[in-house]
Amino acid sequence: MTRTVYVNGEYLPEHEAKVSIFDRAFLMADGVYEVTSVLEGKLIDFAGHAKRLERSLTELDMRAPCTTDELLEIHRELVRVNDIDEGLVYLQITRGAPGDRDFVFPDPETTEPTIVLFTQNKPGLADSPAAKTGLKIVTIEDQRWGRRDIKTVQLLYPSMGKMMAKKAGCDDAWMVEDGFVTEGTSNNAYIVKGNKIITRALSNDILHGITRAAVLRFAREAQMEVEERNFSVEEAKSADEAFVTSASAFVMPVVEIDGAALGDGTPGRRSLRLREIYLEESLKAAI
Ligand code: PLP
Repeated sequence: MTRTVYVNGEYLPEHEAKVSIFDRAFLMADGVYEVTSVLEGKLIDFAGHAKRLERSLTELDMRAPCTTDELLEIHRELVRVNDIDEGLVYLQITRGAPGDRDFVFPDPETTEPTIVLFTQNKPGLADSPAAKTGLKIVTIEDQRWGRRDIKTVQLLYPSMGKMMAKKAGCDDAWMVEDGFVTEGTSNNAYIVKGNKIITRALSNDILHGITRAAVLRFAREAQMEVEERNFSVEEAKSADEAFVTSASAFVMPVVEIDGAALGDGTPGRRSLRLREIYLEESLKAAI
């Protein structure tokens, strides 16, 4: 089946969808994105993603090409026509294609933003084998820019981080700044000590994960203690458990950091419980 994608107001077969070579995202990484997962054909936490998208656009002084209701309709239509049961919807909005290359932002009156959405089918997303074995993490220096709270398409360093992890025989990398873990290449990072979940506090240093917000809420509701503060690599290595969260991986246990096994080297009890609660509760609220 040919995938149907959405580009600037049109639903098209993927091979017919086109964006200008002058698009600001192509030339300057001048764009923002969101990834919303789909379970049982429904969108997980669409409202959270829509709200963060609005914030990213505002922070970059970029215009929204349509309303949140219209965005929801496009998401649903793509899930429907592409028959997605488990998977995700990728959304990207850019500052548009002014018709030439210039560092100065184009006039928003004459240059429309570009909007692209497509689905990715991922059968078995909720029942991922990785959740059963857990992830091996390598730590790397955080060399990204200072506004990591904005979800931009500048993903070269995180992409290089994934390659560094792969080269080290690991599944992912945690980035470290001034001795403290910021976050994973495409997820938020947590350690668990006893009944306490520890994760870096929100600031411009990390992306304000939509899954993070939900998981911390569920952890508190499950009588776990939550501490939002910096933690070092050394502290992480001696933690009882660790995990990461993201819209497409949900809650994923970590079993090893820089070669040091956590606990008995298998996914921790609390991490797995949080994954279970997250999947159960988000499915209930999915639309
Ligand atoms: N941190 C980074 C750097 C990310 O790229 C992502 C997701 O892509 C996250 C955290 C997790 O955010 P969310 O839970 O909203 O997917």
